[in-house]
Amino acid sequence: MDNSTQILPQNDESALKYYLSWVAWPGLFALCMTLTGIGFAFGAPMTAFIFSYILLILSLFFLERFMPHEREWQEPDGQTFADIAHTLTTKGTVHTLFLFAGVIGLTEIFRPATADGYGIFGAELWPRGWPMFFQVAFAVVIAEFMCYWSHRTAHEIPVLWRFHAVHHSVTRLWFVNTGRFHFMDSLYRVLMGMIPLALLGAPMEVLQWLSAVTAFIGMLTHCNVEMRFGWISYVFNTPGLHRWHHSRDIREGNKNYGENVVLWDMLFGTYINPQDRRPPADIGISEFMPAKFTHQLLWPFLSKDKRREFRAKATGIGKRKAG
Ligand SMILES: [Zn+2]
Ligand SMILES: [Zn+2]
Repeated sequence: MDNSTQILPQNDESALKYYLSWVAWPGLFALCMTLTGIGFAFGAPMTAFIFSYILLILSLFFLERFMPHEREWQEPDGQTFADIAHTLTTKGTVHTLFLFAGVIGLTEIFRPATADGYGIFGAELWPRGWPMFFQVAFAVVIAEFMCYWSHRTAHEIPVLWRFHAVHHSVTRLWFVNTGRFHFMDSLYRVLMGMIPLALLGAPMEVLQWLSAVTAFIGMLTHCNVEMRFGWISYVFNTPGLHRWHHSRDIREGNKNYGENVVLWDMLFGTYINPQDRRPPADIGISEFMPAKFTHQLLWPFLSKDKRREFRAKATGIGKRKAG
């Protein structure tokens, strides 16, 4: 595929699909952000967020059927239950963390935007005078620095990769595997991302905006919808970039670590956005991953011998021959 085919309509592509492929990402993101903003203005940010999130899920559900990026990713992979179960355990873990936020002092650190705020150092370090848009943009960029390194270390340090491999073991991308993370992997990233915000004393409203932005971009990132991005992939993490991150070839997979923005990938030399070919449809990892959700939860905690034993039982590979 040459450069022009990613920009120009393809032979079998209708004018409507071509138009939608350009407006889907920015349109859905802008819509979700606007609705959430209205929610904040009327004092109901959570309701507005949930409404936007459901709207986004429904839109992607229909777009994945109407204009899929990879038709073969529409085939069932037997992992839908595991995807949803991981999403729920991960969300449950993070929510429990926030429920106990008062106990561990988080509510003292992250105060409402209207209150006098002090970070861990007790000093007014957060730029509360800035317009909310710039405060949120600032929060995204500095939280991403930590998310970038927690994600990169999850790929480069074997003991952390054991947990992150659960996310990468999928053989297709679609909106349902957005939340498929081992809960330890999510906890690691969420806590790392919160460190700079806690140190600077970011207000609660900024944190809520950051979670909303991360939820919208994350859901879009994993969708199986044919989209075009242009300059957007040089600012935000898009499905176009993230599909390379799920490549089996680690020269491509160990790239594009950014969760929301690509700034740190660009600065640390891990940004890729090839224009001369499509990302691989055959994605996943070369190593073994159990198929069952409960086994996937336990997998990173097992010793090397136990994992070898389990793998031999499941696949028949590496079994000692009788006699
Ligand atoms: Zn990864
Ligand atoms: Zn992913």
